[in-house]
Amino acid sequence: ETAPAFLSVWNMESYYGESYIVQNITFNVHEGEILALLGRNGAGKTTTLRSIARMDSPQVTKGEIWLDHQPLHTMSSHQAASVGIGLVPEDRCIIPGLTVEENLQLAQIAPPVGWSLERLYDLFPRLAERRKQEGVTLSGGEQQMLAVARALARDLKVLLLDEPYEGLAPVIVDEIEKTLRIIKEQGITTVIVEQNAVRALELADRAVILDTGSIVFDGTAAEVLENEELRSEYLAI
Ligand code: ATP
Repeated sequence: ETAPAFLSVWNMESYYGESYIVQNITFNVHEGEILALLGRNGAGKTTTLRSIARMDSPQVTKGEIWLDHQPLHTMSSHQAASVGIGLVPEDRCIIPGLTVEENLQLAQIAPPVGWSLERLYDLFPRLAERRKQEGVTLSGGEQQMLAVARALARDLKVLLLDEPYEGLAPVIVDEIEKTLRIIKEQGITTVIVEQNAVRALELADRAVILDTGSIVFDGTAAEVLENEELRSEYLAI
């Protein structure tokens, strides 16, 4: 690999309260790539995503995070969002009292604005049908679609997905996977954290595996799928 990394995490260390949760976290993601960030419960996957998105907690105490030559490690979460980081948290955070369309419009209030409503509805026809429905009354799969659409409504460079398939029926997972492939074709870079490791590996180009807060594997998704030892030791699949 000779292409320069688009998103680069170098020697990152983060903690909640008093203990370090992730340490020595170094990995690269190339532009337009899908990276699966995997590992057992509590390995530090969510912590890593939240650190990249510059959320108030955990605290990043060491290391550097670069996005397209910009130092994320010096930024607030708002600044990180404005340079193109979009975190879709596990609970999806749909805003109560607002319709689907209002949830999307709210994301477009401040520049830089990303995809138009028309383009978003094209990608997610279910959201178009339900544009006047209150967002929190959507099904789990539809809420996941709304959360991804809302990230695209900003000028997005890197989509950080935390457990997007959680609690969803396989047919809905298929539908979301299809849209994630389309989003990739549009040049967006994705980091996906997923308990459903097989589904994530089928989608991803590369994989990073975390175990108790450190990286134990960095390679292609195909290598993980083929490596039974790795799968059973760190992913229980
Ligand atoms: P899961 O798949 O269970 O979500 P994960 O790999 O995403 O796991 P993290 O959520 O990053 O793991 O958690 C890593 C460690 O940090 C765990 O031991 C967890 O208990 C701890 N942790 C997470 N959030 C907090 C918090 N707000 N305060 C203190 N410790 C936390």
